[in-house]
Amino acid sequence: MSIDSALLPALQQRKAAHLYRQRYQLESAAGPEVVVDGKACLGFCSNDYLGLANHPEVVVALQKSAAESGVGSGASHLIYGHSREHHALEEELAAFTGRPRALLFSTGYMANMGTIAALADRGDTVLEDRLNHASLLDGGLLSRADFQRYRDNRDLEKRLSKIHSGRKLVVTDGVFSMDGNLADVPALATTCQQHDAWLMVDDAHGFGVLGQNGGGCAEHFGLSPEQLPILVGTLGKGFGTFGAFVAGSEALIETLIQFARPYIFTTALPPAVAAATRTSLRLLQTENWRREKLQQLITRFRSGAQQLGLQLVHSQTPIQPVLLNDDALTVQVGQQLREKGILVGAIRPPTVPKGTGRLRITLSAEHNEQQVDRLLQNLDEILNTSSSRAQRGDPGT
Ligand SMILES: *Cc1c(COP(=O)(O)O)cnc(C)c1O
Repeated sequence: MSIDSALLPALQQRKAAHLYRQRYQLESAAGPEVVVDGKACLGFCSNDYLGLANHPEVVVALQKSAAESGVGSGASHLIYGHSREHHALEEELAAFTGRPRALLFSTGYMANMGTIAALADRGDTVLEDRLNHASLLDGGLLSRADFQRYRDNRDLEKRLSKIHSGRKLVVTDGVFSMDGNLADVPALATTCQQHDAWLMVDDAHGFGVLGQNGGGCAEHFGLSPEQLPILVGTLGKGFGTFGAFVAGSEALIETLIQFARPYIFTTALPPAVAAATRTSLRLLQTENWRREKLQQLITRFRSGAQQLGLQLVHSQTPIQPVLLNDDALTVQVGQQLREKGILVGAIRPPTVPKGTGRLRITLSAEHNEQQVDRLLQNLDEILNTSSSRAQRGDPGT
């Protein structure tokens, strides 16, 4: 059989199940108003929550650094690719998170895979929230440790009490990426301390957004390095740039430098990206108005959506899913919105559990109230028609 005829059935099956994914071409910078496939659209699907991805100061920092040090870093961190800009950013991230040290990774995916696999091995146990991001789940599988997924803190406690040997690594998203709600990190931290387990939090969607200074869920909940010893952040979301970091103790960071394969065997980020991130870190900490504006938009969206009778998730973050609970309907509504010039994420399995299809709406400090209202109006027009109500099994009011 040829390779193509071997591959085609799975593709056909995906299409039939309304799970086929396709890409559109973005022809403008990230921001509320984008051009996609030649069409001007209003976007509610970016993770650039603070609007820093196209901030003039961040752009200038990148240009200036690239003019001095070029584009490529030329090598991995361990083979002369570790630049002064990388190092300065690591020191600033350590200070920002209140941890002794921080280590840059090229992506969040690699930070998670590398950290979990470096800390757990055969004979150990990795316990993960069942809604964790794919990169955390893949890290658990890669580690070769016994891999378990827990439902909530009580389920975790039950599981931990049955483990009598090896290391126990508990891993969770800080803000769940498809629901927008926060993990109960203080409760998880207490459970971990009681059971001698290590807690790792991936706060990809919390940094920049949560906490007085944008320090994410660690700052929001006031969690010390003892309570939360392994803290992961990504730079491609609230920071608006690219890359990721792990923050923790001296011994943790040295362990990752020695043993995390996705750290060791990859080219270091362009130093200019580190320089741009230093600028975005400064803006993120000092421009509190971005977080305040975001909260105002979140409140406006939620109260408007509730008035329309839409099913929301209990989320106070810029991730505001509208649950449709029907994978085909999710695709259809996503398309209808796009025809009206509005872009949202149409999220289906395997990204979320089967039958929990949803529109993943994300807000940014760069949106304005009129744009949020336009989104609500379009959701109303598309969803509150009798045919879509019937499909949702909703008799209407
Ligand atoms: C986006 C995301 C990642 C991956 O980060 P990248 O830098 O994009 O690879 C990891 N964890 C969570 C929770 C995410 O949402």
